Amino acid sequence: MTTPYICVTCGTQFAATERAPQRCPICEDERQYVGWDGQRWTTLENLARDYHNVIRAEEPGLTGIGTHPSFAIGQRALLVQTPGGNILWDCISLLDEPTIAAVRALGGIAAIAISHPHYYSCMVEWARAFDAPVYLHAADRAWVMRPDPALAFWEGEARELGDGLTLLHCGGHFAGGTVLHWAAGAEGRGALLSGDILQVVQDRRYVSFMYSYPNLIPLPAATVRRIADAIAPYTFDRLYGAWWGRVVQEDAKAAVARSAARYIAALGGDGQAAPGGERGP
Ligand SMILES: [Zn+2]
Ligand SMILES: [Zn+2]
Repeated sequence: MTTPYICVTCGTQFAATERAPQRCPICEDERQYVGWDGQRWTTLENLARDYHNVIRAEEPGLTGIGTHPSFAIGQRALLVQTPGGNILWDCISLLDEPTIAAVRALGGIAAIAISHPHYYSCMVEWARAFDAPVYLHAADRAWVMRPDPALAFWEGEARELGDGLTLLHCGGHFAGGTVLHWAAGAEGRGALLSGDILQVVQDRRYVSFMYSYPNLIPLPAATVRRIADAIAPYTFDRLYGAWWGRVVQEDAKAAVARSAARYIAALGGDGQAAPGGERGP
């Protein structure tokens, strides 16, 4: 009798074992942390008993799916509905019967794509329930804790998914860090689904870029510039981050440009940068 255990702190499901794993490499990595009560594990059955998913429209053709109360990192996934089949962007740990029924009612899932390993979560459960491939950037292959034939590793800088959806390789937070460009989003003005490769910050006119968010480890200026350059050829007006409400509602392309410029200026400055982005002499 084996169980695919789930790490309580990061939400990652591991390959089935008889006893819970000793450690979680995702949490032991400096981009995460081991929970303050030590390494703890749960199962999908336990999750389904204590939590449920909230499914809520973000805009026409885009539905958020998030767990309540918040579990692990607390991200919500996004279901992009397109004529050629729906794409699930990013993933969450809890998948239960009510969620499967609700997603089927929205047209199911033709494919799953995930920004980076912190959101791999229970991707294999979702892939099996909807018979969908999972697109992951090959540069993060080593972070897969539950291998499965449904996982499809892609390489390079961009991958078309059809219906105006394009995966863009950004790197940064993770070597394979990926965002999803949705040309039809924001009423045709374009949307960028960024996970936390570009993280929408509290001032939702800006995003930020970090190697580690919980441990506040920044990225080098050259990396931030490369992320901004990777998405610069694409048109978008709105940007969806990884959590409910973390959305740059309008003028998002300019928001990314000014956010990258502010970040790079702060790194290159003398440490005396004044609030509001004004630079001293
Ligand atoms: Zn973990
Ligand atoms: Zn992350």
